[in-house]
Amino acid sequence: MIALTRGSEPEALRKMRHWRLADQRRKRLQNQDPPSIVGYDVARDTLYEAQEHRCCYCGDLIRDKAQPVEHFRPKEAVDRRLYPDDPLRRLTPADPEYIDHGYWWLAWTWENLLFSCHICNSGYKKTHFPIRGATLPAWRWDVGDEHALLIDPFREDPMDSIYWRPELPALWDPLRPADSIGGIWWVPDHKGVKGEKTVSFLGLRSLKEVVTDHVRTTVWPNVKGIFRDWNLGQRTKARRRWAQKENLLLGPGRRFPAATWDVLQFLMPDMVQQLPIPRSGRRPPNWAPPPPVPGLPDAPAGVGASLWLDILACGDHGSDADKDALLLNLCQSGPWNIDQLRDRLPILSPVNLKARLARLVASGQITEGPQGYRA
Ligand SMILES: [Zn+2]
Repeated sequence: MIALTRGSEPEALRKMRHWRLADQRRKRLQNQDPPSIVGYDVARDTLYEAQEHRCCYCGDLIRDKAQPVEHFRPKEAVDRRLYPDDPLRRLTPADPEYIDHGYWWLAWTWENLLFSCHICNSGYKKTHFPIRGATLPAWRWDVGDEHALLIDPFREDPMDSIYWRPELPALWDPLRPADSIGGIWWVPDHKGVKGEKTVSFLGLRSLKEVVTDHVRTTVWPNVKGIFRDWNLGQRTKARRRWAQKENLLLGPGRRFPAATWDVLQFLMPDMVQQLPIPRSGRRPPNWAPPPPVPGLPDAPAGVGASLWLDILACGDHGSDADKDALLLNLCQSGPWNIDQLRDRLPILSPVNLKARLARLVASGQITEGPQGYRA
């Protein structure tokens, strides 16, 4: 796992959130069955590019991007157990640690979405979300208030807490690395509780074989000559050779960049420090996580909360009849001039708003006065 940085939110997701979230909230407030949580996958392509085609959790390259978009905080059910595979402890909906509603209001929030492979998403992370202390109350976006026990690679650097090490370090002989590397297994280890929970809930130990194979077949053959040059004091030559290999081992779309860097760091710490070889995904020291994207824009003055939710839920996808009904509803609290109406009905283009007003005035449902339009 490496630190990831998001680009700006895709416009399609912002629109989807306004529409779906308003609809979701309205149904829940009215105690109706909420609509299914869909549509967030409009963020997939942007996430896939931001993550350089890798799974946010295991770090493997994903060639087929038709994978489900992952919610860091689960969108529906949440399983709060503190150990992923505790056979004595199976949570049921009656258990206080099991929360069935999930973080539905974060389902279309840019900061809650990641791109992960099918195995990490459906095989390991599933609906797990262990926390310490109280859960985030519904309709709250400031996730920093909740003490999550899993590492969010968009908010913190996983390489501070998770690192790869040889399973049998006693067997490793620094004088004969070329001979002894073949007998070493590489395994993930952790520092701190979040590191431990992230390794166990995401099943990162199951990567032992594939990462060890990656080290043997890709990392080691490419770096052993560089190590030799470095150890012989041929620093310029080693630098030049590393410059040719860096992109091959740590560049965009390369597999397991965190494990690759940790292996280099373990085998040749002075070379990693002096070249230097920067840690994959490392952020500048003054980096801070971006503030959460707000869920829904506040209602403009003079528009009630319920009407505003209806306007957002209608969106520009709504039917003509729904849009007329919203305009009439709005004009009942008028008069509003055209600019005020435009601010209060942002789902209509200026041209569409004018045409709709003209039609409703002609049919006598709306009157036009010097102060503006009123129903
Ligand atoms: Zn994965």
